[in-house]
Amino acid sequence: MASKRLMNVTTPPSALFLDNKMGVISTCPPLNSASAADIDTAVANARRAFNGEWGAFTGEQRGVVLNKLADLIEQHTQEIAYFESLCSGTPISFLKSTMPSVVSVFRYYADWTDKYKGDYFPPEDGFCKIVEHTSVGVCAGVTAWNGSLHFLAWKSAPALATGNTVILKPSEKSPLGTLSVANLISKAGFPPGAFQIVAVITRFIWAGDVGASLASHMDIDKISFTGSTGTVRKVQDAATKSNLKRVTYELGGKSPAVVFEDADIERNLFWCTFGITGNSGQVCTATSRLFVQESIAEKFIEATLGADPMSPETQYGPLVDKAQYERVRIYIDDAQKVLSPVVGGDTYSVDDYYVAPTIFLNPPSDAKIYREEIFGPVLCIKTFKTEEQAIALANDTNYGLAGSAYTQDIERALRVSRAIRGGTVGINCTSIASPQVPMGGFKLSGIGRGLGEYALRHYTEPKTIVIK
Ligand code: NAD
Repeated sequence: MASKRLMNVTTPPSALFLDNKMGVISTCPPLNSASAADIDTAVANARRAFNGEWGAFTGEQRGVVLNKLADLIEQHTQEIAYFESLCSGTPISFLKSTMPSVVSVFRYYADWTDKYKGDYFPPEDGFCKIVEHTSVGVCAGVTAWNGSLHFLAWKSAPALATGNTVILKPSEKSPLGTLSVANLISKAGFPPGAFQIVAVITRFIWAGDVGASLASHMDIDKISFTGSTGTVRKVQDAATKSNLKRVTYELGGKSPAVVFEDADIERNLFWCTFGITGNSGQVCTATSRLFVQESIAEKFIEATLGADPMSPETQYGPLVDKAQYERVRIYIDDAQKVLSPVVGGDTYSVDDYYVAPTIFLNPPSDAKIYREEIFGPVLCIKTFKTEEQAIALANDTNYGLAGSAYTQDIERALRVSRAIRGGTVGINCTSIASPQVPMGGFKLSGIGRGLGEYALRHYTEPKTIVIK
């Protein structure tokens, strides 16, 4: 059995066999054990590439290799989705339908490589000023298991487009899809050290060590982290205590969906259901608190209960592993001591970690299921009378990642979406990530933004040059 593993870019994932239930590798190719020394090697490679071959690439050349990588990922979608599904349990249909957006992110940033220009100010005061966007240097990315391939693209593409080198570490719970992409990096034409993947392929307690080594490394200039608010505090601490490396964080949420009486219920039911059952609720932007205007509450809730979670559109799969399954069950079981769910509360199959979509009506405002991120298919529904009340309920959370407003009144839609304290608000849909627009959170949901032009700011240092 494998113990602690670090894989490098050349290891073929097709040689691996992962037992999802046990969470261990039963057969493994010869690999090096993960250690701080491995991270030192990866960082030394990245620094060498930054100061050497990769650093000498023009913007146009960087665009060529990013586009080539996008093409290769597109050609290998089937295989990459297979490996991702194998370890994460995410339905392959869901992965295949979302893989094109991974490819789009690489293409989007390939287009930016020679366009992220700086600024110039004329010498009205006797000094001519030029502002350049300089690469930050060696960047580390640490990602969560629920969308490994997206986070791979979101973190590496803007960093590489702006001339940084990247060391990316997927979660130990879902490393295989990312490792399939690792096989394509050198084929795309990246020079050695420019873009490296390091992966731990076990779920034991020390699986976080490699991420911790990246966070505390003295020669990493920036870390971008996607994960839980618990782990990010360790990352923040390590970044502060080491070299004050730059940080950006994409964290959790407890996002609201607000349904007004004038909403087109039939049209919006899909989005409300998808908002909590997509990837079985293991989505950072899941709308796990739903507020319905009192006048339509009965009709809407009835329609919600009638939605079929097992339909192909819902793409319903198991939770990622035993630990996540147990975590979600504890939330449901604890809540059931005082509340009866109006739907669900059961387990489809303990062996496969399926949890039925579960809805609690009007939980108390201090209930754990209402306040904490569960990261599973558990929805809390409350009713409201007025728009002001709906906004107050929506914002009554420590998180601020996303939200939705359902109404046919455009003025109300804009008013409410502005009032919701969240990074992305969907009007008549759940929040959707797109390469062009920033993604990230207010409050406990993160620092900084991924995607769009905004992400480029996090991977560059503005430098002012003053000329007399
Ligand atoms: P997690 O915090 O347990 O792990 C995230 C990553 O951190 C993993 O790669 C893990 O190996 C690594 N890690 C563990 N200990 C570490 C340490 N001491 N130092 C550095 N890295 C360490 O999170 P998870 O369970 O994998 O993911 C679920 C969480 O991620 C949820 O809270 C979810 O909301 C959040 N998330 C946020 C977004 C977003 O874009 N905002 C997207 C997806 C998931």
